[in-house]
Amino acid sequence: MTDPMGSCKEVSEILSAAMDRELTDEEKTRMKLHFSVCTWCQDHKNQLDTLRAAGKRLDTLCEDADSGVGLSPETRERIKHALKDHCPSPD
Ligand SMILES: [Zn+2]
Repeated sequence: MTDPMGSCKEVSEILSAAMDRELTDEEKTRMKLHFSVCTWCQDHKNQLDTLRAAGKRLDTLCEDADSGVGLSPETRERIKHALKDHCPSPD
């Protein structure tokens, strides 16, 4: 059964695809529908948009989040949270 609003997992997959390519209209619509019911995913997208606007690559961001270069502690935490699936574990 498919949830018309989409699941968080589905949307997070769309969001990570958006880092690499242009989304299809269907994906964009799905995302918008989901955002209308889920603020968490909306925040997540805003974070990714911020990161993309910075023109940074994910691996660079992981390093920045660790070293904290030019970032406020709050921003570091947000980036780390947004990238937790992408950055290697510190241990
Ligand atoms: Zn969600």
